Amino acid sequence: MDQAAKIKINPDGTLDVPNHVIIPFIEGDGTGPDIWRATRIVIDAAVQAAYQGRKQIAWEELLVGEKGYQQTGEWLSKDALNKIREHVVAIKGPLTTPVGKGIRSLNVSIRQELDLYACVRPVKYIDAVPSPMKHPEKIDMVVFRENTEDLYAGIEWPAGSDEARAVTTFLSEKMGAWLPENPGIGIKPISEKNTKRLVAKAIAYAIDKGYPSVTLMHKGNIMKYTEGAFCSWGYEAAAEGFSDKTITEAELYRNHNGVPVPGKIIIKDRIADMLFQQVLLRPEEFGVIATPNLNGDYISDALAAQVGGLGMAPGANIGDECAVFEATHGTAPKYAGLDKVNPSSLILSGAMMLDHMGWKEAAERIRRNLQETIRSGKVTYDLARQIEGASEVACSAFGNAIASCRNNSQK
Ligand code: NAP
Repeated sequence: MDQAAKIKINPDGTLDVPNHVIIPFIEGDGTGPDIWRATRIVIDAAVQAAYQGRKQIAWEELLVGEKGYQQTGEWLSKDALNKIREHVVAIKGPLTTPVGKGIRSLNVSIRQELDLYACVRPVKYIDAVPSPMKHPEKIDMVVFRENTEDLYAGIEWPAGSDEARAVTTFLSEKMGAWLPENPGIGIKPISEKNTKRLVAKAIAYAIDKGYPSVTLMHKGNIMKYTEGAFCSWGYEAAAEGFSDKTITEAELYRNHNGVPVPGKIIIKDRIADMLFQQVLLRPEEFGVIATPNLNGDYISDALAAQVGGLGMAPGANIGDECAVFEATHGTAPKYAGLDKVNPSSLILSGAMMLDHMGWKEAAERIRRNLQETIRSGKVTYDLARQIEGASEVACSAFGNAIASCRNNSQK
């Protein structure tokens, strides 16, 4: 095996992944170390089984969060951020948001510092996982949530503050706006540039993975110049970058009686509240969903509930320079160190990471092994309480069962 080396980005944007690759990891706070240990064993076993020693990961720990603060005095060092940038791909467990330490969420800081503008959340049913849906097998969607703007940009002031009063006075006196007495103020910026790069990424993903449509989710009937503009700019992004590979839903009905055109992805839009209804009633009609930050926050958790909850939902934050794969849930502090919680969210994020690196055989193995382990009925507490007849096992035992699944002994 060659010496371990970093991933590089080719001039055409694809990744050059060495067979012996260095991947930085942040184990995370609270239950992070438990789920990271289980995840690492599962990933290493799948890579070994898929490539029989021809490929291997050299893990490099980054000290971030509580561990970073205890050992280096820094919650999130410039060095750690540079390491992620340099290595192109990283994986992380959940991080506590330090309260009253002058830092806002470490997760938000990582996304902003590295310009990881697309939060990508696949939502696909894994057979044997408990679901509230009658036909959960129809669910196969991927949410592309804009990560850098909208109400999450953090431009807000409390009621009664000098800033809120100044903005209120400006809006009422200069812009003629009506405002209630003494309001808190939050600003919702949505820009053409950030919308178009997000939608372009969503369309490129749909083309690459064979999804039939990209739906622009928005509330543009009410917020015309932010959410409505997101929708218009989304259609423009499709026309400007992908005119030979996309067709709008309107055009499809106008010229093709609504019958899909081979080789063309359908670009459509839905008002946010209606989409919440349609993903429950007709989930098979949706593939990739591209949306501003706040809508994306709501829809990705709601969709995760349809396929087994947050404990089963993987995620990634992806930019043009690098990508960070992460569990979508938090640190679940009450279970910290108890070797109890479900590691599936981070394990499935690891599978997404392998897909992103082009190590698809290993990624597929992880998903098959996880499914088979859940079928066996020996699962962590959260699944055990929902599956009749299942028995509870520890986080580490669940990880070991996935790693030693019989699929891994088959070539
Ligand atoms: P949380 O950590 O997600 O936990 C809420 C509940 O979700 C848990 O009590 C547990 O439910 C369930 N849960 C979470 N992870 C689970 C797992 N792996 N397996 C099974 N069940 C799981 O949310 P929180 O308590 O609101 O947040 C705690 C801390 O995490 C905060 O400091 C927050 O800032 C941080 N956070 C970090 C991230 C991130 O790093 N990306 C994301 C969100 C929150 P039961 O009690 O029903 O068992």
